[in-house]
Amino acid sequence: MSQETAAALQTAGFAGPVYLPGQEGYDAARLPWRRNLDPKPLVVAEATNAHDVQIAVRVARELGLPFGVQSTGHGAVVPADDGVLLKTSRMADVRVDQEQRTVTAGPGVIWNSVIEAVDPLGLAPLSGAMPWVGLAGYTLGGGTGWLSRKFGFAADSLLRATVVTADGELRTASENENPDLFWALRGGSGNFGVVTELELRLFPVEQVYAGLLYFPIAKATDVLTRYREWALEEPDELNTGLVMLKMPDIDQIPPPVRGKKVISLRACYIGDPDDGDKLLAPLREAGGEPLMGGLQTMTYGGVRRLTGPQPMPRASLEHVDLFRALDDEVIETIVGAASGDTPLSVAEIRHWGGAMARDTGTPVGHRDVPFSIVAEIDLSDGTPPDEAKSFLDGLGNSLRPHATGGTFLNFINDPALTETAFSPANWQRLREVKKTYDPSNFFHCNHNIPPAS
Ligand SMILES: Cc1cc2nc3c(=O)[nH]c(=O)nc-3n(C[C@H](O)[C@H](O)[C@H](O)COP(=O)(O)OP(=O)(O)OC[C@H]3O[C@@H](n4cnc5c(N)ncnc54)[C@H](O)[C@@H]3O)c2cc1C
Repeated sequence: MSQETAAALQTAGFAGPVYLPGQEGYDAARLPWRRNLDPKPLVVAEATNAHDVQIAVRVARELGLPFGVQSTGHGAVVPADDGVLLKTSRMADVRVDQEQRTVTAGPGVIWNSVIEAVDPLGLAPLSGAMPWVGLAGYTLGGGTGWLSRKFGFAADSLLRATVVTADGELRTASENENPDLFWALRGGSGNFGVVTELELRLFPVEQVYAGLLYFPIAKATDVLTRYREWALEEPDELNTGLVMLKMPDIDQIPPPVRGKKVISLRACYIGDPDDGDKLLAPLREAGGEPLMGGLQTMTYGGVRRLTGPQPMPRASLEHVDLFRALDDEVIETIVGAASGDTPLSVAEIRHWGGAMARDTGTPVGHRDVPFSIVAEIDLSDGTPPDEAKSFLDGLGNSLRPHATGGTFLNFINDPALTETAFSPANWQRLREVKKTYDPSNFFHCNHNIPPAS
């Protein structure tokens, strides 16, 4: 069937390379960054333009095959096994309109390429902490990053998209054209078609005052207890989060933190460094003398250095919860999980709020929730998956009574949780839009939103 599918694509005029199992290039093209999946598509088709995307959608439909779309694979959750996997990495054009402060990007673009193009212009996109993530999946799933408290979710910055819908047609989605599709794309992920181009707003950010401060893990309870009150008062110009982790015991890590468990404060302030220091003083006081780190003035592009080099692909399991408040039991539970002799690799506590809390009418869910906790076990550390799952299930059971029950689409990898990322009203409306544009649920190898019945 692989041969027949490749032949059908080529006969229909698919211009990009098509890889079959066993061929050179097949594995490199099919494997996602998130190695929990080991997809086995009949073919991997690398699109070079929107016409290729239309052909791939039409051929997969005609042959009745599962269909998946992949840029980097950071958010791959359901494999297109025995189907067509469409890779978008070759569609990586970046066009900047400095005057209008917009960027138009292909679906294979990663944030790093946009940052490189716009940083010298004193402009910034609403990218995440990890510049190696794909702009398309990130934006369609909401997208929260260093500037989001000031300017909102990446999905809020989407101005226009071109999309190949399930019927193979290329449509434009914007406030004026197909507004229902445009609404759904801003948070509803890959359910409504294959996006072939995105136009996003850029923001004037000449410089930020940003960095990481590492405190001993023994200070974690003090820091978090201060943070839960302090964060609610931080200005929108300040984005902060706390990460508890064990630093790798390798030469590249500086001795003060090498091999140690730490709690790190991550901060990015759009403003004067002295003001930033004053604002952060209560957290420094709670953490005591930092083991390492500091904040510096830098262009927005400089924040890429804070998360280090591009991480290797890996498999991991995680637990995600949102909270209206971080009460004592929550802090005790998460600090216990991160500081004890447990398999947990990372626990990240983010403060949301600011522009993210303002309702822009997009389906990105749970905007009003101020805190998230993501707890992750990196399976490449050698923790057996069963043990990791059972640990995270136990952690989830302890946190759940204090949590809202909601999640954020970009942070979850379990497709059974998709609905929890949306309010009931938005979930229903997304299902109605799905019914309009994809009534047979052709695009289902994703965080699936089933068509309304
Ligand atoms: C290390 C790491 C750090 C992260 N940091 C953040 C963060 O700071 N903030 C945040 O919000 N998220 C973050 N994420 C989550 C990330 O935004 C999602 O995983 C996102 O889906 C990645 O997009 P991608 O295009 O690279 O992924 P892919 O795995 O290639 O795509 C994921 C899904 O997006 C959809 N999709 C991708 N391209 C298209 C397209 N052209 N048309 C239609 N649908 C498409 C599909 O449903 C696809 O299955 C992080 C993830 C990782 C692994």
